[in-house]
Amino acid sequence: MESETRTATEAAQSLSVAIQSRRGARIVRGDRKSPQDYPRASSVGVCAREVYHQIADWELRAPHPVELLQRFRRGSEVENIVVRELLEDGFDVKAQQIPFRIREPVLVVAHGHLGSSRPEYSNIVICTGHMDGRIGWEGDNPVFEVKSLNSNVWGRIESVADFFKMGSFWVRYPRQMLLYLYQAAEPFGLFILDDCLGHWKILPVVLDDWLDECEDALQTCRTAAIAARSARPPPYHNDPTWCLECWCRTAGVCSPPLDFTPQKFVELHGPAVSVDLDAMEGWKTPHASYSSTDKTVKALMKTYGPGRYIAGDWLITCEEKGGKFYTRWQRLTSASTPS
Ligand code: SF4
Repeated sequence: MESETRTATEAAQSLSVAIQSRRGARIVRGDRKSPQDYPRASSVGVCAREVYHQIADWELRAPHPVELLQRFRRGSEVENIVVRELLEDGFDVKAQQIPFRIREPVLVVAHGHLGSSRPEYSNIVICTGHMDGRIGWEGDNPVFEVKSLNSNVWGRIESVADFFKMGSFWVRYPRQMLLYLYQAAEPFGLFILDDCLGHWKILPVVLDDWLDECEDALQTCRTAAIAARSARPPPYHNDPTWCLECWCRTAGVCSPPLDFTPQKFVELHGPAVSVDLDAMEGWKTPHASYSSTDKTVKALMKTYGPGRYIAGDWLITCEEKGGKFYTRWQRLTSASTPS
């Protein structure tokens, strides 16, 4: 009987391992890198140089880990579910995965065969992408973009501005939408945010409210597209803190000196923050020692069991309630010393 049980356990384990490993291999097989010719709307962050490297060094980007690929796949499925629900509720979903590109005349430097250079306008593609879809609504066709988010992140996003507070990766989302709105000449679009548990938040993005940000995104695209055309990377980003989160550093394609713009660090002269941090630094070691000693004493008292004990100058009470042990102690004073 025991050997039968063990065999069943082993069989169950080997099947579990086989399912996970075949799924992982299939998902990884489906992740093919492809060359990129122009800035992609979904990847326009705040550094034009990074967007340039996405084009010039696309092969050097590390493959996505399988955990992330699994998330991407679930994200695509959520997108299909959202569209299906919109249709079920009678909305006029005009189209899905609409390819788009922004082409503009930009000033580039043309190099002559004798080494001369002259500025000239050239009509080039500065951004491409695919909009998730458009909905017919009161004579307009607003763009919508579905994002499936980890429920912790989903809980923190209440407005478009929240994306900007969350760091370099998240800035791409509003920028992507603004590029869509600019290209589609629509006054507003909607983010439909799903927490992967079926809950939605819908965030309107009104182009007029974000014109400066839209222009920044366009300028990032122009700079990167011109740089890709001339094979000359744009300057480093002017805030080294962004660089610390950038794949270009880990891939070794961009190595900015991290002290290249010290003036970008704003020095705080008020005492509150540094005093608090100094104090917390001082508490780190005592806090760790307190926690570990607290655990040791409680574990030891558990072995003695429920009761009242005296140890040196200390009166210790150990109680058991519902299978859990609770230990308290207090320093003995003449008032608390048991007679
Ligand atoms: S490491 Fe910094 S400068 Fe280089 S591409 Fe990334 S963000 Fe831009």
